[in-house]
Amino acid sequence: MSFTLALVGRPNVGKSTLFNRLVGKRLALVDDQPGVTRDLREGEARLGDLRFTVIDTAGLEEATDESLQGRMRRLTERAVEMADVCLFILDAREGVTPADEVFADILRRKSAHVLLAANKAESNASDAGVYEAYGLGLGDPIRISAEHGEGMGDLHAALMPLADAFEERAAAEAPEVDVELPEGDEFEGEDAAARITAAKPLQVAVVGRPNAGKSTLINKILGEDRLLTGPEAGITRDAISLPINWNGTPMRIFDTAGMRKKAKVQEKLEKLSVSDGLRAVKFAEVVVVLLDVEIPFEQQDLRIADLAEREGRAVVVAVNKWDLEDEKQAKLAGLKEAFERLLPQLKGAPLITVSAKTGRGLDRLHEAIVRAHDTWNRRVTTAKLNLWLAGMMEAHPPPAPQGKRIKLRYMTQVKTRPPAFVVMASFPEKLPDSYKRYLVNGLREDFDMPGTPIRLTFRSQS
Ligand code: GDP
Ligand code: GDP
Repeated sequence: MSFTLALVGRPNVGKSTLFNRLVGKRLALVDDQPGVTRDLREGEARLGDLRFTVIDTAGLEEATDESLQGRMRRLTERAVEMADVCLFILDAREGVTPADEVFADILRRKSAHVLLAANKAESNASDAGVYEAYGLGLGDPIRISAEHGEGMGDLHAALMPLADAFEERAAAEAPEVDVELPEGDEFEGEDAAARITAAKPLQVAVVGRPNAGKSTLINKILGEDRLLTGPEAGITRDAISLPINWNGTPMRIFDTAGMRKKAKVQEKLEKLSVSDGLRAVKFAEVVVVLLDVEIPFEQQDLRIADLAEREGRAVVVAVNKWDLEDEKQAKLAGLKEAFERLLPQLKGAPLITVSAKTGRGLDRLHEAIVRAHDTWNRRVTTAKLNLWLAGMMEAHPPPAPQGKRIKLRYMTQVKTRPPAFVVMASFPEKLPDSYKRYLVNGLREDFDMPGTPIRLTFRSQS
């Protein structure tokens, strides 16, 4: 059983070089094959004990006309559709370029499984580029040199769990054999599918002021003193983003505290961590803003929470050191009031009280993270949205500036992560902000999307 891997990235990052290395001499066999499209090359790859199909999108260099960007995009999207897994390749010597960001964006939206490779990393001169790649929010970069064959072991290790998952999927999808299943086994197929989905871990960042308790919290979740006592030789990948399985949910926790502490030893990294918080937020799907109960909602906390919202991340607010609090009831009421007043843009986001020290509240935090991620991925059908929009307009019609009634004609969800909606309207520029807020708050309540940022834009259609 095998799977299909697409090599994706802008021209000259080394896709063909890697393709040739993976496919080797067997390439000659596929060249004659009909059905292989002109722009996409396909070959049977071998990497250690893994066998899979690899697709190369490198046929682009010849295209020098101004539509290059558009063609790259289309080709990439097609490769993504054909593939089970995408390997996004960048040139570590150049770091992350704006064109890379465009590809990363396509992959984030379209691909279920993305691996990231920083190529041309055979020398130390590529270190900065490798670290920059962490900021793309596509997981840890695999450091490789396609030309020199370095990092192939790491690539193998990264593909291994996915290969296993796809094998399970194939087994689950195999034609049914006429055997009576014991009771309780009937959902086997769904389980396998769920496991494949689960193969992409939920990306979480824990951010907050120094001493809020970030390291203590992460250590508690990990159940071991890994951040502070982990391997010190070099900057290990784990020092930056930690793979965990928390209450059965695969996650990667991006640890800003650990980075800072390491930076004291490794000044190289210090230079690179321009803004730990910012990088963490960019990386994450869910941002946990950790507050210290003794000094909650400081300027810095507010700024990072606001940043997370503007970047479109799901936010969970956790108030730490709850064990120190005597007047829990009164304190909680005060915190909730402050939250609503100071962070209205995060209306409905969960506020969880925890003690990183004792572990109290961590199950609720886990639940809130999973639920926030779920909401963030929520999709509402166009039919439901338009029914809802009609109801909203009936309950409270849009205003009629200068006697011209603004008509909201049609609405659809264009994106998830976070949910984004477009409304076609006549004179949308005249619609007051209060009406937009009415719609956003309505969406939140009626479709049960508390806490997640919601994007609502209007397009003109008379
Ligand atoms: P693609 O068209 O984007 O797939 O990129 P190519 O495979 O054509 O490679 C572009 C250039 O980068 C070629 O000159 C390669 O020799 C070079 N290249 C590819 N991989 C590496 C690498 O690991 N290290 C170095 N230094 N150069 C590489
Ligand atoms: P970081 O800078 O955000 O990583 O914070 P640390 O994890 O280093 O914690 C800062 C201080 O707060 C340490 O002295 C911790 O022992 C303490 N601390 C962290 N969490 C708790 C908690 O839940 N309760 C109490 N009482 N102290 C805590």
